[in-house]
Amino acid sequence: MADTGLKIVVIGAGMAGLLAGIKLREEGKHQFVIYEKADRIGGTWRENTYPGLTCDVPSHHYTYSFERNPDWSRHLPPGGEIQGYFERTCEKFGLYPFIRFGEELTQATYLDGRWQLQMASGLRDEADVVIAATGVLHHPNIPEIEGAESFAGAMFHSSRWDHGIDLSDQRIGVIGNGSTGVQIISALAGRVRHISHFQRTAQWIMPVENGYFSDEERARFRDDPAALEAVMDVSAYQAAVEGYSQVITGENGDGADYFIDSCKQNLESSVEDPELREKLRPDHAPLCKRLIFSPDYYEAIQRPDTALVTAGIKHIEASGIRTTDGKLHELDVIVYATGFHADAFMRPMQVQGRDGVKLEDFWADRPKAYLAVSMPDFPNFFMLNGPNGPVGNFSLIDIAELQWGYISQLIGRLAQLPGAAICPRREVLEEFERERIAAAKKTIWFTGGCHSWYLDAQGIPASWPWSYQRFVDKMSAPRWEDFEPAGLGDVSAA
Ligand code: NAP
Repeated sequence: MADTGLKIVVIGAGMAGLLAGIKLREEGKHQFVIYEKADRIGGTWRENTYPGLTCDVPSHHYTYSFERNPDWSRHLPPGGEIQGYFERTCEKFGLYPFIRFGEELTQATYLDGRWQLQMASGLRDEADVVIAATGVLHHPNIPEIEGAESFAGAMFHSSRWDHGIDLSDQRIGVIGNGSTGVQIISALAGRVRHISHFQRTAQWIMPVENGYFSDEERARFRDDPAALEAVMDVSAYQAAVEGYSQVITGENGDGADYFIDSCKQNLESSVEDPELREKLRPDHAPLCKRLIFSPDYYEAIQRPDTALVTAGIKHIEASGIRTTDGKLHELDVIVYATGFHADAFMRPMQVQGRDGVKLEDFWADRPKAYLAVSMPDFPNFFMLNGPNGPVGNFSLIDIAELQWGYISQLIGRLAQLPGAAICPRREVLEEFERERIAAAKKTIWFTGGCHSWYLDAQGIPASWPWSYQRFVDKMSAPRWEDFEPAGLGDVSAA
């Protein structure tokens, strides 16, 4: 069977797009280009630069499996170091010449067996395969709060941090207490004049150590692969990830006790003032929203120059935020740590598949994709970190690598069948969606009754609702009978 080099376009030079590029370059079989709308690589880690930015995956696990990093300074990786890691890796794997910066893809249309691509700049291209690696959390959610435009100070979203402002003598208001808000408060407390933390829903905080690696330790990790392997303790980490996923999915209800006890104990033992402790006590079970790991939030929020505000926000006025109890919180800076539109994915890009099927219509009820990777009527269009994949307190790099393993097999089959339109069958996706939604209703995100970005517009958890291991198994090889054209499974592997 012929094995033909394909033209592949990757959208986005964040963690997942770089992964695709590295793998395609290594394989050396296909022509490819990565289009990136910004002027630097890094995605999330380029856009987020807020004080305290940290990933809550243990540092040595937050890397590509083929490019470990012995040089992390802390047990949890700081955002700036993550960005540095991706920049070094991009350079080391010779990827920069393959990236076209400042090119935002606005339209992808499947026509006569190829994808016709249009950039905002006017540039056009075409491809046999499109890989959307556009990220999950990149469209800031900025709530419309009455009077916001009248605020006299600076105001920005956490992912658009204004580093031009010297905060040391400022009164800062931070809206939102997800992972981002909590990290910002912890980092700024004691370094600014005053902080008001606006909390709409209390959050459970899981205690976590975030110590430093000494110079000696880092040298050892560099020089001795066994030392790096020992600190990673891969089997313990994998067991923890699997155990956590089983708790979330309701497959192991008892396993939640550890998290519940740790969070409750953390609140009881860390917060002295009983009134503040009650304000910080959620009325939902831990894990119902994305669990927040923090070594120092409770310490920060108890400082005399930090205030927790639990009254609702009534409106914003020139000098600050007025809460529903009538109080004016005078502020110089307002930070929206209010999260992202997690359902956007590659939108606002216009994607039109076979027979004029529009992504906007296909996703009218909710974003969906077979095993988070591919969609009927959108042939040879594959996603990394697409809808309904595993998004939890674990490494999205691992998820992207698993997905790449699967996608590369689809691309391999296409190379053997030039011109084929490979996509899952419609009824396969429908059945998958039925099962996924039924399983999603058993997850703690649904049964716990919480509101969070894990839920779609219809209140159904959008994340992978089964165990982590099930995802690993599904990604090991495509079930060819689930895909069009028929007979893909009969093509002998190259
Ligand atoms: P988020 O988890 O969606 O939290 C948004 C916060 O803003 C919530 O506290 C929410 O309150 C509040 N909020 C939204 N609209 C509001 C309004 N109109 N008035 C008052 N409060 C409002 O967003 P995030 O903290 O940016 O985190 C998003 C995700 O990014 C995380 O879940 C995680 O996946 C990732 N992340 C990870 C890390 C890490 O690895 N450590 C760090 C940062 C971010 P309610 O709870 O009441 O809705």
